[in-house]
Amino acid sequence: MLIANGSVLDAQGNRPADLRVGPDGRVAEVAPGLAPAPGEETLDAAGCLVVAGGVEVHTHLNLPVGQVRVSDDFASGTVAAAMGGTTTIIDYVTTARGQDPMEALATWRNWGEQAAVDFGLHMTFTGPATEQTVAACVEQGVTSFKVYMAYPASLQVDDGVLLEVLSAVGRHGGLVTTHAENGPAIEALRRRALAEGRTAIIEHAHTRPAELEAEAVARVATLAELAHAPVYIVHVSSGRALDAVRAAKQRGAEMLGETCPQYLYLTQDNLEGPDAPDFVCTPPLRRREDQDKLWVGLADGTIDTVATDHCPFWRADRRKAAESRGSGSPDFTEVPGGLPGIETRMALMWQGVSDGRITAADWARLCSEAPAKVFGLWPRKGSLAVGADADVVVWDPELEQSLGAEHLHMRVDHSPYEDKVVRGWPRAVVSRGRVVAKDGMFVGEPGWGRYLVRQPRSGAVG
Ligand code: MN
Repeated sequence: MLIANGSVLDAQGNRPADLRVGPDGRVAEVAPGLAPAPGEETLDAAGCLVVAGGVEVHTHLNLPVGQVRVSDDFASGTVAAAMGGTTTIIDYVTTARGQDPMEALATWRNWGEQAAVDFGLHMTFTGPATEQTVAACVEQGVTSFKVYMAYPASLQVDDGVLLEVLSAVGRHGGLVTTHAENGPAIEALRRRALAEGRTAIIEHAHTRPAELEAEAVARVATLAELAHAPVYIVHVSSGRALDAVRAAKQRGAEMLGETCPQYLYLTQDNLEGPDAPDFVCTPPLRRREDQDKLWVGLADGTIDTVATDHCPFWRADRRKAAESRGSGSPDFTEVPGGLPGIETRMALMWQGVSDGRITAADWARLCSEAPAKVFGLWPRKGSLAVGADADVVVWDPELEQSLGAEHLHMRVDHSPYEDKVVRGWPRAVVSRGRVVAKDGMFVGEPGWGRYLVRQPRSGAVG
């Protein structure tokens, strides 16, 4: 197949070039003026950018959360990913406390057989982890791990365990990703709010202040330095936490940061009014000035990657949970947290290019190249170099797309961007040489996606 007449864009910039996909599903040739071979299929990319498929490194598909379950499974979630220009995802295996991590990994591998695009897995530790378990995960291509510094009742590990996990994972060339919020202090604020009868959804934001996010970022940065290990902060949401990431980087810590589009486009104002339960995510939505600081952090390299923390729930499930205490008014502590986003990430970040916040090259770096490098997939993913998997997006910067739920493919009945229309959307999406989305139609199949064995880290991330 020949993708012709487009402009190839990567983190170095763009240049007019055609791209040939070989019969093995890899990039075979990238050069201007390639002529189609006899019988070769041609995909016309005139007026479009030709970019490496998006690499989305923070999703929760099919995950049980309390009494409910995330509404997208690996089939629906990855179809939506493909429609929006993402051809690789990494989902978080989330172990219940006391559960065997390897058993949980087997469950997720099984779920992933329905994936429509390629997928990898991160492992979450909710308690002490043995060196043997870390090694067994790396052996299976799971080279990144997650620990929570919040949610003491279910997920949080203490600082001692965190230090041990950082050390063990670091020794095996892996990367620890961290949900950085001070769990015990947040629990105290939540108890006080409930005791005072403050149960409205906005209290979700008031009881998880940015100060307690920044404190946790600084603390885990220190622990990582002591462990001589890298650490990656998921979903940096506030200016204060960004400052903590920047300070750690400036003193030479191996610190990496991720943010998500919801922290760039939404504010805690969304946590008031009848739709408030649909905007509960953790960390909570912040303020306008936090958005501005995060955009600066994306442009200046303080933030390394953009992911989504895709974790959708049906509206009814959110409301049922909110009212489960039977008090007649919603209770912010009961709403399952998480937003849909797997399909809209590339477009929302392209909006940042249109708005002059980041460059087109930044967009390619933040959405595919850097996440592939950080998580051991480069140069197979996030690259259009010869020999890379032919995961290619033909991106039309003029194509308009509504981000309302009924116009998207995520299995969920609301959108955080219901009335928003963006300019910039895929014309075609190719996964390992196969067209999986074209002109707004999904033409791939669940089960096409393969499990990705990821490499341990070596050397610094470029
Ligand atoms: Mn998450």
